[in-house]
Amino acid sequence: MMMTIKCPKCSVDGKMSLVNPDYHGPYKCWSCRQLYTIDIKNNAVVSCEPLSQEEYDKQHPPKPSFDMNVGNARDISNRNRF
Ligand SMILES: [Zn+2]
Repeated sequence: MMMTIKCPKCSVDGKMSLVNPDYHGPYKCWSCRQLYTIDIKNNAVVSCEPLSQEEYDKQHPPKPSFDMNVGNARDISNRNRF
C-alpha cells in the first residue's frame, strides 16, 4: 500500500510503499533530502524523528567490500618455487 508522509521540515508530501501496516525505519524526503526515522502503526504515522546522515550511516553501514587479494595465489606459487 502507499503511505503519504508529510515532511515536517518542508511540508512536502512524500509517498512510500509499505508491505505491512506497521513500519519502523528510515525515510528520506525527496524534496529537502532530510532523513527521518519514522514509526507507522496501522497505516498512521505515529512518530517522525529527524535523523542525521551520520546516524543513518550507523544504522545502515555500507556493505563491506570483499576485496579478495587475487595476487595471493601467485605469491604462494612463487614461494613454493624455492
Ligand atoms: Zn522535506
